[in-house]
Amino acid sequence: MAKRFGEGIILAFVLIWVAACGSGATSSGSRSGDEGDPPGKDYEYLHQHNAALLNGKTVRWPSTTITVSGATSGAWRRAIGRWPEVNFIFVETDAEIDLRYDHSDDWCGRADRRFDSSGMIYSCTVRISTRHERNGCGAEVDTVTHEVGHCIGFHGETHDGGVMDLTTAGSSEITTPVREMINLLYALPVGHDITSRLAN
Ligand SMILES: [Zn+2]
Repeated sequence: MAKRFGEGIILAFVLIWVAACGSGATSSGSRSGDEGDPPGKDYEYLHQHNAALLNGKTVRWPSTTITVSGATSGAWRRAIGRWPEVNFIFVETDAEIDLRYDHSDDWCGRADRRFDSSGMIYSCTVRISTRHERNGCGAEVDTVTHEVGHCIGFHGETHDGGVMDLTTAGSSEITTPVREMINLLYALPVGHDITSRLAN
């Protein structure tokens, strides 16, 4: 079956890895900020669906207020507003998140995120297929919710019957693990290293 949702990830930078040579000492690289991390949260899930993108560091918008253009209908704006964890400001053009229709026989929607090596997302383009109905994609507004979920930092797809499933599972629901992950993500700084919170 054709892939019905696309999640394009564009790494718009060149990672430069610098090896420290000479002393022979083992690097003790301290991880900053661990004591301030909210306890009792599912850092494994956050890693799987976000920080895995950047070697265990959080990838998010620098602010919880994000501009959105191209959401011309009330239905699309409501679909985006299903994510109360961040605040969206709807503008005419040139926003941080831009939505548009695009022709595709292969996918229902796709989101192309751009983030830098510090973990800061700075742009996301959402495309909704003009052949949405013909492709058997379910409700268009659910696809809008799904793709904007990728834009604000949700990586990969779920298998829990919610809107972040591969085909939105015919659902409008943002499931609890997904909501809690987005809440945790935006409670932590950009590029925050969570690897010390993982089991291994
Ligand atoms: Zn997706």
